[in-house]
Amino acid sequence: MASPKPVPPQPAAAADSPAKKVDWSNFRDHLATADQQGRRKWMYPRKVSGRFFRWRTWFSWLLLVIMFGGPFVTIHGNPLLMMNIPARKFVVLGQIFWPQDMIIFAVAVLLFAVGIIVFTTAFGRLWCGWACPQTVMMEMVFRKIEYAIEGDAHNQRQLNAAPWTPQKFLKKAFKHGIFFGLSFLVGNVLLSYIIGWHDLYRIIVDPPARHLTGLGFMIAFSLLFYGIFARFREQACTFVCPYGRLQSLLLDENSIVVAYDYKRGEKRGPLRRAQKFGERRYAGFGDCVACNQCVSVCPTGIDIRDGTQMECVHCTACMDACDAVMAKTGSQPGLIRYASLNGIERGRPLRFTPRLAAYGVVLAGLAAALTLMLVLRSDVEATVLRAPGSLFQQMPDGRFSNLYTVRVVNKTSREMPVELRLESPAGSLNVMGQGTIVVPAQKLSENSVLIELDPAVMKSGTTPLVIGVYSGGKELESLKTAFIGPRN
Ligand code: SF4
Ligand code: SF4
Repeated sequence: MASPKPVPPQPAAAADSPAKKVDWSNFRDHLATADQQGRRKWMYPRKVSGRFFRWRTWFSWLLLVIMFGGPFVTIHGNPLLMMNIPARKFVVLGQIFWPQDMIIFAVAVLLFAVGIIVFTTAFGRLWCGWACPQTVMMEMVFRKIEYAIEGDAHNQRQLNAAPWTPQKFLKKAFKHGIFFGLSFLVGNVLLSYIIGWHDLYRIIVDPPARHLTGLGFMIAFSLLFYGIFARFREQACTFVCPYGRLQSLLLDENSIVVAYDYKRGEKRGPLRRAQKFGERRYAGFGDCVACNQCVSVCPTGIDIRDGTQMECVHCTACMDACDAVMAKTGSQPGLIRYASLNGIERGRPLRFTPRLAAYGVVLAGLAAALTLMLVLRSDVEATVLRAPGSLFQQMPDGRFSNLYTVRVVNKTSREMPVELRLESPAGSLNVMGQGTIVVPAQKLSENSVLIELDPAVMKSGTTPLVIGVYSGGKELESLKTAFIGPRN
């Protein structure tokens, strides 16, 4: 097993303190990013290279193109994604959703949550390491800029410890200038996902006084992202993101995680010069040469050899660092690798198990259900209500009339002519002031509708009505309401 770590001296605890003493030798008892006084320990992860880092770099370029290009892509004239909360208008893959579509939204959120649970149970925090915008921006953009300006971890440490000189000031000012510029860009991209890039453009080119709220958000988002990427960093994943916290609930012994193969690695110990691996094994040592390279590249400062931890964002840096060490020592790569606890305990390589297949089927089923709901979603949403305060009226020809308010929402990006027909019982339906309703694109039309019935088709008191909503001769929706008349 792992050799015990030296226990640093502990601050004296008040004898009457109800607080449990921190066990500094137990990694689960304290944060890797805080010292014994509770002060933040600034992380200096070493530069990493290797096959996972290469694949992640390519993948993050793809994600960055999607992320930054997304607001400018339109489908049928609508943006790819827009979450306009102030205007209560939401666009996903070019489909406009209105507050009336809240059921679809609620189901989508539910499916999303179930999807996350199923995905995480099967594949661990694959999302965090490969696709989370926080990790992608932090590790693939901001961290690389920092390396380019200040150098690798040890150069950064030296620079921060050094007294202020004009050269240090220039370096820091240059770095933070770029960080703020990038944060401004990221903040604007986020804003364009909320209000659309056309509105964002207007905020930029119009006189500032006309868009004080928009400008306020622009500055707030820029400062927020600057704060996150320049200072807060890994703390966002550890303290703020609920997904990391959920990990302990969602993972089990079959979940795939970034894991240290302790069976192969222990007992760890340095590789002596000219020592062969066969001799090491004979002396009871495993493949881990206790070089700490896996710890030095970790952006959250943890030692993955201690086991799966909440702070681990599955960035794969330790896998690459350890593979490089294994290559130098002439051992097989994968001492730290994607594996499940069961896989490590039984020494099995990662396989596509029936369990993973079952989870994959559940995920595909959820995606199919949501797709079906979106495909079957009506382009028009109509509601009918009796006009407030109105009573039934008897006409000179003996028929009775009721007045209604019909609201029609056009969810498409084109103007839509809509026709209302009284389906049952037989009678007449008139849209007051116009024949056909024409609902402008993405707008709501409110219409007064008069329905007249012959007493012969009416029931005593209340008669059920069915109104069909048509466009281009196709029935889009069927509305049910009641016609009020005299009691016999
Ligand atoms: S990088 Fe590999 S060999 Fe080195 S300490 Fe970490 S697990 Fe052990
Ligand atoms: S333990 Fe490894 S995978 Fe997890 S955050 Fe640290 S370097 Fe990344």
